[in-house]
Amino acid sequence: MKPNEEKLIRRIEKVKMRLHEITDMRPGKLSQQYNVCGSPTCKCKANPPQKHGPYYQISFTRKGKSSSRFVKKEDLELVRRQLRDYVRLRALVDEWIDLGGELAELRLEAERETRSRSSA
Ligand SMILES: [Zn+2]
Repeated sequence: MKPNEEKLIRRIEKVKMRLHEITDMRPGKLSQQYNVCGSPTCKCKANPPQKHGPYYQISFTRKGKSSSRFVKKEDLELVRRQLRDYVRLRALVDEWIDLGGELAELRLEAERETRSRSSA
């Protein structure tokens, strides 16, 4: 094995080990919103208005379909971690694709060299 090939394999193994740490995760963006209610005497109609909230929501698109769901305040920390882990997953997969592509080219070249040597 060439040194470059070994180096790439080691880096891919590191990516795989980091991928292994990821379990629950979710795609999406967290946003917060403030609402007004239907009561005409509520503080949300005062001047200045004190709107209700914040309410937290994650929105995401999966298989071409957009969805959103509300997140309870007490679940925020967990959901934030899940969103971060999704970003990590995508970054790691991207890294693997880059490294894997380099390795694929190296091995293709090595194959060609072997073939040209055996036919010479
Ligand atoms: Zn209100």
